Amino acid sequence: MQHIVILRIGHRPERDKRITTHVGLTARALGAEGMLLASNDKGIKAAIEDVAGRWGGTFYVNNDVNWKKEIRAWKEHGGKVCHLSMYGTNLPDAVEGMQECNKLMVVVGAEKVPSEIYDLADWNVAVGNQPHSEVAAVALTLDRISKDETLAGAFEDAELTIVPTARGKRVIDNTKNTGFDQS
Ligand code: SAM
Repeated sequence: MQHIVILRIGHRPERDKRITTHVGLTARALGAEGMLLASNDKGIKAAIEDVAGRWGGTFYVNNDVNWKKEIRAWKEHGGKVCHLSMYGTNLPDAVEGMQECNKLMVVVGAEKVPSEIYDLADWNVAVGNQPHSEVAAVALTLDRISKDETLAGAFEDAELTIVPTARGKRVIDNTKNTGFDQS
């Protein structure tokens, strides 16, 4: 199994709350084990861990990390680093190497990222060479490297589990062991 963590840098609490929360939730849903937040915003940790508490799994958020120390420590422990940047190598040209790596940190920016990251990264990867969204960049990257495995993955100890249906909303409340239709 591949260990994937997201390193979110440049988060501005006054304007990036929603998008950073979505980066974390998307990463969790697509198989990452946690997100390191290189800014101090305890609200992000609380919001994501609240969702993870109800919907299961062990996804964590580490608040206010030092990004350089995290990258160095990750690499010292045998991990590799993929920095998402529209200036990088296109995703299809880097995906094979990333699939082979069993410990992958995915770095995603908000405001302009420090130029040092381009040298620290093993791969600077572009999801197309046009500016768009960090949520889209994380989603497409995790999807391509997962070989379709994580989308169907189960989340342990979930309070709530969705039963996929063609119409309507079916949810199992595991705390009561009952199913219900959500309106
Ligand atoms: N203005 C910033 C800069 O020049 O570095 C980038 C802002 S962009 C909205 C925020 C983040 O989204 C980037 O740091 C990058 O991680 C990600 N991103 C945006 N477009 C991307 C693309 N085409 N490929 C990969 N990542 C992308």
